[in-house]
Amino acid sequence: VEITGKLGLAAKTITNLTRELLSSNVIRIAGYRSSSGGRRQELLELNPDYKYGLGIYLGGRCLEGAIVDLRGGVSIYKKIRVDIRESQSSLLNKIKHLTRELITQTKMSKLFGTGFVFHGILDTRGEMIISSAVLPNLKGVKIKKFFREEFSLPIEVEISSRAIALAEKWFGAARNINDFILLELGMGIGSTIVHKGEIFYGAGGHAGEIGHTVVETNGRMCPCGRRGCLETVASIPAIEKEMVRCFKGSELKNFKELYHLAINGNKSARDIINRAGQYIGIATSNLVNILNPSHLIVSGELIQGKNLLFQTIDNTLRKYVIPSFYDSLQIIPGKLEERATVIGGATLALKRCFEATELN
Ligand SMILES: [Zn+2]
Repeated sequence: VEITGKLGLAAKTITNLTRELLSSNVIRIAGYRSSSGGRRQELLELNPDYKYGLGIYLGGRCLEGAIVDLRGGVSIYKKIRVDIRESQSSLLNKIKHLTRELITQTKMSKLFGTGFVFHGILDTRGEMIISSAVLPNLKGVKIKKFFREEFSLPIEVEISSRAIALAEKWFGAARNINDFILLELGMGIGSTIVHKGEIFYGAGGHAGEIGHTVVETNGRMCPCGRRGCLETVASIPAIEKEMVRCFKGSELKNFKELYHLAINGNKSARDIINRAGQYIGIATSNLVNILNPSHLIVSGELIQGKNLLFQTIDNTLRKYVIPSFYDSLQIIPGKLEERATVIGGATLALKRCFEATELN
């Protein structure tokens, strides 16, 4: 009855459609509710196990794979290490083996398709990796062709911040939010602009490259060929470079250990994180002042809940965003945390299928 009202279709059509979806297991009956007319109403829900999406995420230091159901639940998850110096063929080999392993563990017929996610720049047709600052050897890989030749599954490719935005929109912090900016802070820094529920791509398909907005005019060299980009002062590699310089001779291994020190009151550690947070905050406040979104969702490896970095970014935004914009802006951490990107990969496959006319 409710569906009839929402879609404006005849009750009989809805009954026929739901019977069809029920018999093919796309939806299932979740329970019953008695209505005022005396007849009990069926409560329907999407069957999360109807089919799955396969997500593959190649980060700068790891390769992750996951099988994700229609509610964003992860049933299988694998993670292996990769290295920045690794050759192209070695990286592709690892992708091939991990994908094959996940396909073997799920039934091929249960998979909608695969979504591959990486850090870098993708050509407008989504076929080829133009460049990747975190894994330079990926340059020039015809990634869709690779997947098509290795596996007989539909393949979608996307950069990390957009995959996270999609995952948060479907399953996380951005459900029911239609105008937001997703900020990804990790090995690279990126942003995705969502307007009226749709991702904004820009004329060339590369909108949102906040990591390559300049924040220090004579700063460090960036892999993009210019100096002083946000990524050169606030990405994981930049923060760790600063950590090594500051804590010369110490045993500190990575940003997680630096966070630990900072939480325990070490001033130098706090200074490094605050400096990165201020730069991120300045760049982001410019974006917020231009776009006036309702929400800013902050995600990526550098963010765990409202941690120290998150708080510094928020404090900086309060300082530089137009006050009335700041008052109406909600700044929240992503909900899907460290698995957001690989879930985003799988969501690409699910999205593609739900946009197609035939569910089978
Ligand atoms: Zn740059």
